Amino acid sequence: MNFKILLLLLIHLTLIADFFELQDDMKGTSSINVMEIYEDTTRKITIDQVKKQAFKIQDSDITNHGLSSSAWWIKLQVHNPKSQNLTWSIKFIFGLFDHMQMWQFSNDQLLSHSLKGDHHIDPKITPFNERTVFTFNTDSNAKNTIYFRISHNKIGFIETFNSLWTQNHLDTYSQTAALITTAILASLFVLFFYNLFIFFILKSKIYFWYSVYLIGIIIGIVSFNTIGAHYIWRESIFLIDNIPIVAFALANISFMMFTRVFLETNKQVKWIDKFILFFISLEILGLFFAIIDVRFLALKLIYLGGFSFFFFPFIGLYLWKKGFLIARGYTLASTILSITMTIGLLRMSGYVYTDEWLFWLSRSGFIIEGILLSIVLADRINIIQNSYNKTQNELTSNLGSEVKKRTIELEKAKKIAENLARKDMLTEIWNRRAFSEMSEELLQDSKRHDIPLSLIMIDIDKFKTINDNYGHKAGDIVLKSFSKNLSLQIRDSDILSRIGGEEFVIVLPHSNLADATKKAEHFRLDTETKPIDIKDTILNITISIGVAQFNPKYDSLDTLLARADKAMYYVKSHGRNCVYSIDS
Ligand code: GH3
Ligand code: MG
Ligand code: MG
Repeated sequence: MNFKILLLLLIHLTLIADFFELQDDMKGTSSINVMEIYEDTTRKITIDQVKKQAFKIQDSDITNHGLSSSAWWIKLQVHNPKSQNLTWSIKFIFGLFDHMQMWQFSNDQLLSHSLKGDHHIDPKITPFNERTVFTFNTDSNAKNTIYFRISHNKIGFIETFNSLWTQNHLDTYSQTAALITTAILASLFVLFFYNLFIFFILKSKIYFWYSVYLIGIIIGIVSFNTIGAHYIWRESIFLIDNIPIVAFALANISFMMFTRVFLETNKQVKWIDKFILFFISLEILGLFFAIIDVRFLALKLIYLGGFSFFFFPFIGLYLWKKGFLIARGYTLASTILSITMTIGLLRMSGYVYTDEWLFWLSRSGFIIEGILLSIVLADRINIIQNSYNKTQNELTSNLGSEVKKRTIELEKAKKIAENLARKDMLTEIWNRRAFSEMSEELLQDSKRHDIPLSLIMIDIDKFKTINDNYGHKAGDIVLKSFSKNLSLQIRDSDILSRIGGEEFVIVLPHSNLADATKKAEHFRLDTETKPIDIKDTILNITISIGVAQFNPKYDSLDTLLARADKAMYYVKSHGRNCVYSIDS
């Protein structure tokens, strides 16, 4: 015999599936190594005919055959090596088949036969762990051949992954699974009612779509683990077939709508908004086809829409990097959903293998997302609150500095206005009112601290004749020029004011009568010798001056002023252009 043929035969022999050795402690052992598959595209082949067909060994890890309208046959050969009978089970992880039929043979003799699946709901309520589970009894040292036929009325996903269990382990598993499912459903219900409540109070679309998402997940859990079909909507094949589709589409649509309102995509980036709307319309179209029972298109469209989830973390990241801080929590949360959704969809289209873990992962992704979104919403409120506080603080501090600025300006304006009221309009030196106020203060100081203080009263001689000869305007020029000249010669602490037409007063703190008289004489001489330029003419003027010193014992401003006035009139009556001082 040719060596090559021998080798081929050897390879062939190793590829022929062995008998599965049954154990008494099987905890969901995958049948993948012994499973043989036959696809009947005609859907007409009977159990007797199928026995003669060549089954294909399940030679890869991938057990999902995607969307299919064929009838799928699975053949499994088992051997009980033990010395006693064994009761054991096969559990299908995916439960949404319309029809599931099983035959158990021993040496071509039919031992058992059963019919399950969504379209064959048991009239008596099926226990929780029996919906997608087939139980067998295999005699000691016996070999059984088991056939399954799995199909959908029109079309559906075919996932042939199944696992072997001994009764006690399956019971524990089912009880734990039921407990976890109940806990998850209860938490999701609480979240759902809580968010619905917030929606009714705040009327914010974000909470509305979040609530719809949660209810989508709740219906999804109940329909994908077939609780719904077996316990809740068991009377209607239409509901049994369509509620899982509606739940999946509802979760997808509401998450996409949530994304739109949460990330404000229609305000932020228009094309992203249109991109999401496109996927939403795929889902809605899919729902429409589901309702009119065009299942192929329905499933394809909804399934395609689900792939949009892959992009959501990137949308979040993009907006986050653009400075929209609210997108940060969303980015993290949608990453979880994106990964589980994408893996789930790839698994359902036969690109990724199935196992117990991945199956649970794709289910829990939706649930984890449901809880994470609560945190994301809290983060959003936190961000909004912070930015509100920040602008509030900025506004307050801006307002503060603005008010301060205005106050300073106002104070300045007030001072200017006040000073204007205290200044003589023509000569711009202090007027009579300011003189009275300021002198009173200086007299008080002088009294309190025993500081000498004197007062000089000045009257321009024969001023009337200047007006008469050169005009009133010329008189004004003389008044201005004279007071300017005088103001340049006094000290900062001296107060020069115009108290009448051509009458001026200077208050001199720290000056006694002698000092003040000396000063007055200086002014008189200076005035006499300094000509004043009025337009074309140059004028010389003289002044008469009276001086008096303040006596804190009996003087008031009026008596001081009267004494200086008296001295000045003495000069007037004695030839003018002279200084006269009256001692107290
Ligand atoms: P005497 O030497 O006795 O003081 O003679 P006099 O002319 O200076 O005295 P009188 O009090 O008789 O005249 C003061 C004049 O000063 C009268 C008035 O027309 C004039 N006068 C008062 N205020 C102003 C002013 O603001 N501008 C001008 N141009 N003249 C003024
Ligand atoms: Mg005069
Ligand atoms: Mg006068």
